[in-house]
Amino acid sequence: MTGPREWTPAREAALACVDRVDPVAYARSRNHLRGAVTGLSPWITHGLIDLPEVLARLRERHRLGAQDKLVSEFGWREFFHHAWRHLGEGILADVRPPLPGVRYSGRVPDDLLQACTGVPAIDASVRALYDTGWLHNHQRMWLASYAVHGRKVHWRAAADWMVGHLLDGDLGSNHLSWQWCAGTFSSKPYLFDAANVARYAPMLASPGTFIDRSYEDLDRHARQGGDAGPERVRPASAEPPPLLAQPPEASPEASGCPDLRGRDVHLMHPWALRRPAGGAFVLAVLHRPFHQRFPWSARRWRFVMEAMLRESDALWCGDLAQLVHALPQACTISARATLNPGYREALAAARVRVEPVPRFTDDPDRPCGSFTAFWKRVSGAIDG
Ligand SMILES: Cc1cc2nc3c(=O)[nH]c(=O)nc-3n(C[C@H](O)[C@H](O)[C@H](O)COP(=O)(O)OP(=O)(O)OC[C@H]3O[C@@H](n4cnc5c(N)ncnc54)[C@H](O)[C@@H]3O)c2cc1C
Repeated sequence: MTGPREWTPAREAALACVDRVDPVAYARSRNHLRGAVTGLSPWITHGLIDLPEVLARLRERHRLGAQDKLVSEFGWREFFHHAWRHLGEGILADVRPPLPGVRYSGRVPDDLLQACTGVPAIDASVRALYDTGWLHNHQRMWLASYAVHGRKVHWRAAADWMVGHLLDGDLGSNHLSWQWCAGTFSSKPYLFDAANVARYAPMLASPGTFIDRSYEDLDRHARQGGDAGPERVRPASAEPPPLLAQPPEASPEASGCPDLRGRDVHLMHPWALRRPAGGAFVLAVLHRPFHQRFPWSARRWRFVMEAMLRESDALWCGDLAQLVHALPQACTISARATLNPGYREALAAARVRVEPVPRFTDDPDRPCGSFTAFWKRVSGAIDG
C-alpha cells in the first residue's frame, strides 16, 4: 500500500494522504496487497474528509471520470450507503436467501480468532487486522470467503467481529460486503483459490491448504460441505484484542448536559469528526446503546476520541434520544446525518436540523439491487 501504516485522526493527515494518491498506479495495481491503494478509509468513515472533497482535490491534479477505477471504487461506498438508507437495520440480516441446506455456526472458531488456521493468507490477515486496524480489500474478501464458505461461520457473527477491529469499520460497507461474499447480497458466493493468493500476495502463498483446490471443488464445498477445520492443530499466533463498549481511557458516565440555554448546539458523533463552521457549541455525543451492541477495539476508540475531544467543547455519553428530548427548547440543534442504528433514530427527532452526508453520486429514491444497476443509474452525472 502507498497509504499510511498509522492513521493520525486529523484532517491535515488525511489531506496529505489524498495528495499522495496516484490514480493511474491505483488502477494498475489495486488488487495486489502491495498495490497503490489509498489507505483513506479510516478518515472517510469518521467524516474527517468526505468523498466529494477528495474527488475535487484529486481533480485539481488528475483527469478523473466515472470510468476510472478509483472513482468507481469510491462509488461502492456510495452504493453501500444507498442500500443501507433503504434497508436500515435490514443490512444486519440476510438480504437474499442464503445457500439452501447449509448450516452455519453463530460462533467464529478459536483457531480463526487466534490466527492459527494453518492457511497463511488467513492467519496473516487476522494478525494484520489486530495489529493495524486495517486490511487490504483482497484480505477482507479472503477472510470473508474462508470464514463463511470454508468454515461455515454465519456471515453476521464474523462481520460483527471484523467491524469492531477495523479503524474504518462501517456497518454499511462491512456487513453488506460480508453478505456480498456470502451470496446473500449477490448472485453467487465469492470464492478464491491458492492461485489467486499467489498472484496478488506471493508472500502469503498457501499451497497445500484448504484453498489449494479447483473452483469446482470450492463451490461444491460452499454448497454441500461442512466446516473444513484448521489445517492441523497449531498454537495460537495472536490473541484477539478486547472489544470495548466505551473508550478505554476516559469512561464517560451518562452525564448531565452543560447549560446550553440560548446556544446553537451542534451534536458531533463518531462519523462526523469535524467542527462545523460558525459559532455553535459543539457537544460530542456517544450513544451508549449503539456501542454496547457494536463494541470497538481500543485502537479504534483512541482514533475516534482523539479527534472528538479536540474538535468539541464538551463530551456527553448516554441515551442520545433522551438528550435530544432534554435539550432546552430555545436551543437550535444541528447534526450531520448518520445511518448508524440508534444515532439515526435519535437525530431524526423533529427538533434536530440534520445536514445530509455529502455524496458525489445521486442517492436514488428507488433502491438499486446491485452495484451495476446503481452505477448505471448514477455514473452519467459524475463527469458532467
Ligand atoms: C468483507 C469486507 C469488509 C469491508 N469492510 C469495510 C468497512 O468496514 N469500511 C470500509 O470503509 N470499507 C470496507 N470494505 C471495503 C474496502 O475493503 C475498503 O474500503 C478498502 O479496503 C479501504 O482501503 P483503502 O482506503 O486503501 O481503499 P481504496 O481502494 O484506496 O479506495 C478508496 C476509498 O474508496 C472506498 N472504497 C473502496 N473500495 C470499496 C468497497 N469495495 N466498498 C466500500 N467502499 C470502498 C473507501 O472509502 C476507500 O477508502 C470491506 C470490504 C470487504 C470485502
